[in-house]
Amino acid sequence: MLEVDESRIRMVKDQIESRHITSQSVLSVFRTVPRHEFVPAVQQVVAYQDRPLPIGEGQTISQPYIVALMTDLLDLHGDETVLEIGTGSGYQAAILSRLCKWVHSVEIYNSLADKAAETFQRLDYTNITVHKSDGSLGWQPASPYDGILVTAAAPRADEILLRQLKENGRMVIPVGSHSGQILQVWTRQQGIFTKEDIITVAFVPLVGDRGWKEEEWKRDTWF
Ligand code: SAH
Repeated sequence: MLEVDESRIRMVKDQIESRHITSQSVLSVFRTVPRHEFVPAVQQVVAYQDRPLPIGEGQTISQPYIVALMTDLLDLHGDETVLEIGTGSGYQAAILSRLCKWVHSVEIYNSLADKAAETFQRLDYTNITVHKSDGSLGWQPASPYDGILVTAAAPRADEILLRQLKENGRMVIPVGSHSGQILQVWTRQQGIFTKEDIITVAFVPLVGDRGWKEEEWKRDTWF
């Protein structure tokens, strides 16, 4: 077995299974999607470590466990259409694409969107569409979605996003500011939204129209 494959198997065992992610489909996808292919060349040797990594434009790819937890919380079965907000490196979208029918992923930085789209093509991920757009408004054209995953810290679970969820749909979103965020799961049932708080997390800010303004992000002491 190649060294990277061994590192990935170990990552799943030591960082994900050990933290009580039990879904076999989720664990199996994390054993196969090559995380090192999604990070800049200089980061490849540390791609399987238990931490976030820089991916350019001041952005980061989340720690493997957080990607796994958020994926697990969406509870995918294979036939869903999912919206990801914040494509970044494309790693999270690649993971989702192996667990659902189609992924729409929105990225506000053109350079990151182009790079991720290239990676998807190179590695043959054919059920992901990358949209260069302000994801704080969601992605209306393909809505409603079975699942929405926001991978940047939002000021709130905005109504504009919740309205893009299907009946029985779920949205996983970190809500909070620079000083801390809570990972929330929102569920839509019979038109009513319910929220569950999961854990505290640390993401880069969601910017754009419904996102954080630079001055507000640092000033806010919401937590
Ligand atoms: N899911 C990514 C990591 C995301 S980091 C991965 O697997 O690598 C957060 C990403 O959200 C960054 O790429 C950032 O540019 C993007 N982002 C921030 N605000 C956004 C917005 N309003 N619309 C779309 N993308 C946004």
